[in-house]
Amino acid sequence: MSPRRALITGVSGQDGTYLAEQLVAEGYDVTGLVRNPGDRVLTHLEGVSLLHGDLDDASTLVDALGAVRPHELYHLAAPTFVPASWDDPAVPMAQIAGATGTLLTAAHRLDPELRVFVATSSEIFGDAGESPQREGSPKRPRSPYGIAKLAAHQLVGVLRERHGLFAVSGILYNHESPRRPVRFLPRKVTRGAAAIALGLQDELVLGDQSAVRDWSHAADVMRGARLALAADAPGDYVFASGVGRTVGDLVQAAFAAAGVSAEGRIRVDPAFVRPPEVTPQVGDPSRARDVLGWRPEHSFEATIAEMVAADLEQLRSERP
Ligand code: GDP
Repeated sequence: MSPRRALITGVSGQDGTYLAEQLVAEGYDVTGLVRNPGDRVLTHLEGVSLLHGDLDDASTLVDALGAVRPHELYHLAAPTFVPASWDDPAVPMAQIAGATGTLLTAAHRLDPELRVFVATSSEIFGDAGESPQREGSPKRPRSPYGIAKLAAHQLVGVLRERHGLFAVSGILYNHESPRRPVRFLPRKVTRGAAAIALGLQDELVLGDQSAVRDWSHAADVMRGARLALAADAPGDYVFASGVGRTVGDLVQAAFAAAGVSAEGRIRVDPAFVRPPEVTPQVGDPSRARDVLGWRPEHSFEATIAEMVAADLEQLRSERP
């Protein structure tokens, strides 16, 4: 029997590499789309075939789909940094909502049996008015990024209904790992704590420490994506830890893991402070747990400790 084929858009990102590793371990034939397949800095992609795919050129996505004819498509590629979406809202609309529409339609035309996972976001809830949020909670996004992700989420829903497509929207809350870029808060904090522990840095400059997020490990979330495509029927799922934590909690966990005190080490710079959120972004993962049997394997503390350990190792190796 020939192996099942999976196609991953955004394979070189944090989530894509974890997902690819899991699928390769499961015996899948895995192809990933990257903007530049010849890029030498791509890591964690052993055993993965790479093809060119660009969110700004829908024909590359459709071509790759036709070339691979996957059984499962994981659409993870998207701009991911929420604040950047204010610069030009047309960009997230095209790259997130437009690309999702193109891929879903092409998938349906290619093979009505194809199973599609689309990564959406807790940002679709915005000012939901209830916390934690479930799949059916009100969706009132408050950023162009959230609006684009909501359009992608709703496209999954209507195309599933219209065509009977096996399409899933995974509503992903914040998920982290040592592979997360430093522009995101948790990696900034674990790297900062590691640098302070090594005496390379005196302080860490942050924004609002009372902001709340729901943090999971990226590997757990990607296991959820696979479970969602292996289910009997398609549906949408919140993937979250279910626990809201503040930026301050994150700081404490990271400094504890690094073995230093955060006392006197944090400086607040208004440049990093965002307008307060009306509804705390916390997800209720009950449906994923009840329907898919999904349970996170990494605790918050273990995730942060893993990130701090990786940052300590990296910073030590970079020392002259
Ligand atoms: P996001 O949740 O996708 O926006 O990604 P982040 O991991 O960057 O988390 C951002 C949250 O942390 C927001 O609630 C910010 O207000 C808060 N925050 C506080 N200080 C900082 C900081 O220095 N950098 C970033 N990126 N976020 C910060």
